[in-house]
Amino acid sequence: MKTLLQLVLSIVAVAQEATAQDVECVRERAAMVETIRAYAWSDNGALGQQGLLERVLEAMGRTKRHLFISERSCSIAYADRPVPIGFGQTISQPYIVALMTQLAEVAPDHVVLEVGTGSGYQAAVLARLARKVCTIEIVPPLAEAAAKTLKDLAYDNVSVRLGDGYGGWPECGPFDAIVVTAALGQIPPPLIEQLKVGGRLVMPVGPAYTSQQLTVVEKIAPGKTTTRAVALVRFVPFTRSQD
Ligand code: SAH
Repeated sequence: MKTLLQLVLSIVAVAQEATAQDVECVRERAAMVETIRAYAWSDNGALGQQGLLERVLEAMGRTKRHLFISERSCSIAYADRPVPIGFGQTISQPYIVALMTQLAEVAPDHVVLEVGTGSGYQAAVLARLARKVCTIEIVPPLAEAAAKTLKDLAYDNVSVRLGDGYGGWPECGPFDAIVVTAALGQIPPPLIEQLKVGGRLVMPVGPAYTSQQLTVVEKIAPGKTTTRAVALVRFVPFTRSQD
């Protein structure tokens, strides 16, 4: 028989566990994973019948998106929607983050470049699947905030740099994969140069403030690439440092 004290203590423990789950957004994050898994099946033009891979879904399920947005709200963070992060920028909708991650075909020994750090969320997802992630952000307060968030959350394999990502980051490369999260009319040649043979670059290509083609470029030999358009997307513009 439990004493009254034991009973009270076990009720308190259950309540604390529930509160911890609320703070961690456990339920909402699990629901988000199921939403994007189902969405990937219906959107089979982009990924084919395989849908999102288990390891990509697992990385999404382990990355705490609510800690990368200022609201810290579970319902806002885990809806399959983009979220504003200030300075006119947005963190992409979770499905697009997962889609770009999968299209980049990131493996555990890979070095990955991201251009457009924003909140740091996409970098965190990539960091769960790669050996090292280097990410560049052009807006100083965003670069600073993302670097702090990633450090506080112990993403020790991510380096954040402030600057224009058009020129890539040669000292960190060459790269097995490159993910660009801002839209530009053409693919910056320095990024192709810094991509290893066999590597993939994923980027929204097209004009600003309208839809773009999410494009996958594969480097098949030095100086030789193949390009395919995968889906229509809407990204914030890729800006240049002299703008
Ligand atoms: N990947 C981010 C979302 C990116 S929004 C996330 O997970 O939160 C696109 C970002 O690209 C914005 O933060 C914008 O400031 C940045 N950006 C735009 N042009 C850039 C450039 N030339 N170099 C680096 N970052 C750039």
